[in-house]
Amino acid sequence: MVRFCAICGKVPSGSESLIDNLCWDCYRDKHRLINAPKSVEVEICRHCYSYRLNRRWIQPRGDVDPIFAAAIEVVKSRVSLNGTGVFEVSPLEMVDRNRVKVKVSALGTVHPDIPKYREEVVVEVMLKYVSCPVCIKIASKYYIATLQIRADRRSISRSELEELVGLIENVVLRELKTDKSAYVVEFSEVDGGLDLKFANTRVARLIASKIRERTGASIKETFKVIGFNRSSGKRLSRLTISLRLPPFSLNDIIRVDDEILLLKDFRGGKFIAVNLASWSKISFSPKLLSSKNVVRIDSLHNLPRGLVVSVQGDFLQLMDLSSYEIYEVAKPVELDLKSGDEVQFIKLEDKIFIANLL
Ligand SMILES: [Zn+2]
Ligand SMILES: [Zn+2]
Repeated sequence: MVRFCAICGKVPSGSESLIDNLCWDCYRDKHRLINAPKSVEVEICRHCYSYRLNRRWIQPRGDVDPIFAAAIEVVKSRVSLNGTGVFEVSPLEMVDRNRVKVKVSALGTVHPDIPKYREEVVVEVMLKYVSCPVCIKIASKYYIATLQIRADRRSISRSELEELVGLIENVVLRELKTDKSAYVVEFSEVDGGLDLKFANTRVARLIASKIRERTGASIKETFKVIGFNRSSGKRLSRLTISLRLPPFSLNDIIRVDDEILLLKDFRGGKFIAVNLASWSKISFSPKLLSSKNVVRIDSLHNLPRGLVVSVQGDFLQLMDLSSYEIYEVAKPVELDLKSGDEVQFIKLEDKIFIANLL
């Protein structure tokens, strides 16, 4: 008995065999590989082109036209395949600003007996222009986190301020690439420091921890309840992060007990200082600097210059280059000096210390 297709009457040949009494062509027509809606609606922000995908707002990325990017991603989320295979969605036509068409093209098969083939469908995408939550917040100057940057028992210096602002800008610009809410809502220089407001607690915390890493600042967080979210029933609170820079900064010369130290560096959570009597290096945690026994004596920037005239055993003769006075100074064990070297020094009561080799 010759078997033939129930729809088109074709008698299969070669490796083709009837499936449910249908030839492969008719079977494919009756069982589509691609499962996709004819049209979908996409909510897209009229200001920033973020789009809503399921319950989240996604920022467009890359060089693709943001309208097509939104259309493609939303269509992808609504397409599935019957059987096995893979599919991709690509731009097809921009009908007008409110309507585009995309093409879904799949490679696969609806039945294990039928070899893989290609199938395409066109999906129409209707764009609905709205304002995304972030753009609404930007417009309203909404903020949820405040970062207060101060220094312990002193003002933040101009050069420290510049460094802080540079660091903040770097973090914000980098974060904005992937998180549109990472912007600074308000930036103000206040007496003794900086105040910043953010729409996003994550970025405020990230900046605080970067500054701590760089300077040894301490961080304290406080929350204040500002209301209730009616839809979730949760409390809404505002975060304040107090960031306190250590009472001393790099290049400060300090007295700890009887030692005279120059703060050289801050690395891996520790200050590195030079003990000016011996020029040996020590490291300690920023906490030590908050102790009352630590006193700032001067800064390296203010110290006078001197010239090493001669070195004899454990002593050297140093000429003050502003007064031409000659002093006898104990040579720091770990500093190799020879006559002719120019240095910065600090004079304390009856003792002189070499602070820097120029
Ligand atoms: Zn047929
Ligand atoms: Zn937006």
